[in-house]
Amino acid sequence: MKIVILLLFIYTAALSATKPKIVILATGGTIAGVGQSSVTGQYQASKLPVENLLQAVPEIQDLAIVEGEQVCQVSSQDMTGEIWLQIARKVDEVVNQADVDGVVITHGTDTMEETAYFLNLVIQTRKPVVMTGAMRASGSLSADGALNLYNAVALAASPQAPGKGVLLCFNDQIHAAREVTKVNTTNVNAFQTPEFGILGYIFYGKASFYRESVRKHTFRSNFNIKEINTLPKVAVFYSHADFDSSLIGQSVKNGIQGIVFAGTGNGNPSEATIQALARSVKNNVSVVRSSRTGRGPVTLKAEVDDEKYGFIVADNLNPQKSRILLMLALTQTTDIAKIQQMFFEY
Ligand code: ASP
Repeated sequence: MKIVILLLFIYTAALSATKPKIVILATGGTIAGVGQSSVTGQYQASKLPVENLLQAVPEIQDLAIVEGEQVCQVSSQDMTGEIWLQIARKVDEVVNQADVDGVVITHGTDTMEETAYFLNLVIQTRKPVVMTGAMRASGSLSADGALNLYNAVALAASPQAPGKGVLLCFNDQIHAAREVTKVNTTNVNAFQTPEFGILGYIFYGKASFYRESVRKHTFRSNFNIKEINTLPKVAVFYSHADFDSSLIGQSVKNGIQGIVFAGTGNGNPSEATIQALARSVKNNVSVVRSSRTGRGPVTLKAEVDDEKYGFIVADNLNPQKSRILLMLALTQTTDIAKIQQMFFEY
């Protein structure tokens, strides 16, 4: 009998030794939300601690040795640069632990794409960093958090995931941090990669990849969280007909260091706005032209003489992610040509 127990013990120990170790870092959001009832959209996000998330999906223990840690407890509309730095430092610490194979970050969906892109640029690792969340609070009919978490852990543990940058795992789909965006206010199919499509599928823990994002990320990035202490102030202005260009001058007076202008079409500002942005450049504020359209590159010198005004174009990075790249660029340089090059590389 003793021998049987010993063999069983050795067998279990050997099994867990072969399992990857995945750390779940919880930050809040609907995946940690508690609903009024199973059939209402009313709920409070960012309530449940990481222990509850782990207990809700015991199946993840079959996939990996899973540990959880609460980094913060915020709904992602409340995300700040300070919290990004805190999350990034924690991710950096965890991926540098030799026995850790991958990281899963649970996060609110509203700004998940921004945190994903920030980490994609500042964490220098080949280990998988996978973000997930939920559109329906736990307890809701057809709550999506449990399966999203199961798939995210499976993806972080997958031998196919290393080296592919920060991934977003949601509703059975795998997206690249640079290219994904939230496209729906309430539906569980909340994320899309509009320009290039998903990287792959993940179906009940089985991942299939079809392509990779080729822009610089993680282990090829020249940004490093170890060297970043604060983030400069950068604002996004959303253009529309009859845009009030005086808002730009006011924000410059308020000490803004960079502006992303989400222009119409090919990143177009109105004539008055071009002049306001040009004055900002003269006041040492970096100006990036992005687009509110959601698709296509913003190109140099189409309707706007970028060289004359000292404007930078965002390529096809959306305005909210252009803000992140501009913030990180400004931690290294204010040189227009160098920042422009970054927008073509990252
Ligand atoms: N407002 C929530 C958040 O972003 C929405 C969600 O998590 O789905 O934190």
